Amino acid sequence: MNKVKVIKKNSYFTLVATERISKGEVILKLTGTLSGQPNKYSVQADETKHIFSFSDDPNDPASSFRFINHSCSPNSYFDIPNLTLLALKDIPKNEEVVYHYCTTEYDMAFPFTCFCRSENCLKEIKGFRYLQEKIKNELLPYLAPHLKKHLKESSL
Ligand SMILES: [Zn+2]
Repeated sequence: MNKVKVIKKNSYFTLVATERISKGEVILKLTGTLSGQPNKYSVQADETKHIFSFSDDPNDPASSFRFINHSCSPNSYFDIPNLTLLALKDIPKNEEVVYHYCTTEYDMAFPFTCFCRSENCLKEIKGFRYLQEKIKNELLPYLAPHLKKHLKESSL
């Protein structure tokens, strides 16, 4: 059974837990095709490649990662080397599953203003490269390898 499903909430789609998910659990497998050009829904896999879902159908479980929304206080993160989405904390049933886009995206093709209402909301979400050094370091445990590399280079 899938631990998540895509629902329509107000005017947007979002990913929600269909059961209680424990911290550290695999929420979904990241499968798709690779492209050199990102879009709003792709997830960055390395310096030059972006993962696209096979379809844009909200009912297709293999493509549900496409609908995951951003939060500055996320409850999940992508383990890029293992191509999985992992729970960062316990996630109750029906709660939205969200991740911090700046943990995979270096320089976003489609920046946006965040309204996640968390205390530490960054407001302008444009990609990892635009974050303050302090924030970059806070995200370190959840960063995709291609972003960790940038951190090392910049602190040398
Ligand atoms: Zn926010």
